[in-house]
Amino acid sequence: MKVKYKITAIALAVAFAIGFGILGSIPADGIPILAYHMVSDEDNHYSISIADFEEQMKYLKEEGYAPISLLEFAKAKKGKFNLPEKPIIITFDDGYVDNYTNAVPIMEKYGMRGTIFMVVNEIGKERYLTIDQLKDLEKRNIEIGSHTANHLPLATLSSEEKKSEIDKSKLLLEWKGLKTVFFMAYPNGSYDKEVEQMLKDGEYLGGLTGDTGLNTFATNPYQLHRINIPQPFFGLTEFKLRFMRANVAAHMGW
Ligand SMILES: [Zn+2]
Repeated sequence: MKVKYKITAIALAVAFAIGFGILGSIPADGIPILAYHMVSDEDNHYSISIADFEEQMKYLKEEGYAPISLLEFAKAKKGKFNLPEKPIIITFDDGYVDNYTNAVPIMEKYGMRGTIFMVVNEIGKERYLTIDQLKDLEKRNIEIGSHTANHLPLATLSSEEKKSEIDKSKLLLEWKGLKTVFFMAYPNGSYDKEVEQMLKDGEYLGGLTGDTGLNTFATNPYQLHRINIPQPFFGLTEFKLRFMRANVAAHMGW
């Protein structure tokens, strides 16, 4: 019996070693897009703690990941941008003010940057980013995208409502003086073929889902995959395992 346990333990250790070996060199299979919401120490389902977030950014830097924007990814597909060896895209949904006060300063400390998807009708409301903060973020190389006007699940809406959410959110951000908006994150990961077509017609270059996986140039740009990063129960190990799961999903074509 004892020998059997020993063999099992060794097999597990080897499996983990191989697993983490793969983690060291991810982007051969595609680019990871991380999805965060809040970064704060409040007890909230959508929040990751400041310390865990910092640990993750530090890890990405140490592993040699280089942040790119979604626009740079789209340009690279057309041969107009040279991707770094280990690109990563870091995104935040909803547009919480703690992205400004907590997340971005930590990202800057580790040479990271990212994309914030704003719920446009929440701009300036309690807990949400103001227009001045959004403008300052753009100056600091943070990309701003749309997370619709009212955060309604798009696939459940009428055609008119879908179009309004998609077009108005983009126009409003641009009217308020932000750069051209090229990307949307679908609220609740909800989208359909009609939504995709409306994004194309509305001059969006892509849409981000909540589906797990990595992204290559062959990935439908209106169905980009992400890796959701909630508050980890098992620290950095869990963060690495989420990467691994996305890798497996990419291989299996999930
Ligand atoms: Zn959201």
